[in-house]
Amino acid sequence: MLKPIRFLVFHHTASAPSITLEQIDAAHRAKGWEGAGYSFFVDADGVVWPARGLRRILAANPPHNSDSIAVAVAGWNGNDKHPEWEWSVMQWATIHWFVRTLSVLIPGLTIGGHRDIGSTPTDCPGLDILAEFEDDPHEETIQ
Ligand SMILES: [Zn+2]
Repeated sequence: MLKPIRFLVFHHTASAPSITLEQIDAAHRAKGWEGAGYSFFVDADGVVWPARGLRRILAANPPHNSDSIAVAVAGWNGNDKHPEWEWSVMQWATIHWFVRTLSVLIPGLTIGGHRDIGSTPTDCPGLDILAEFEDDPHEETIQ
């Protein structure tokens, strides 16, 4: 059962940025999930694609699958072999849009990366998402 949304969680896809939502959907079905386990997907151009949206329980954010929004952003931050796979300016603009819009719509929303809220250790999303919003007094961050 869905609960009130408390977290906005960002993931990277740990792939080349050219990955599509269809490919993620197939990969997550192969894990036994009912399709892409995120709320939304941000492609290489910063375009937002709905996956499970806001009305379905997620698979990608345990233990917060029922009280979070998961945004997967195409690319792989912190990959030494492929620094060009890091999130682009357009993707960052979309990330900022998510943070600003949802912070207004959902008072008290906590923002973080997968590694900040996950129940299993992960590097995802490969960077400190909170540092991006450090200078913004309007954003609440995970403590
Ligand atoms: Zn993740």
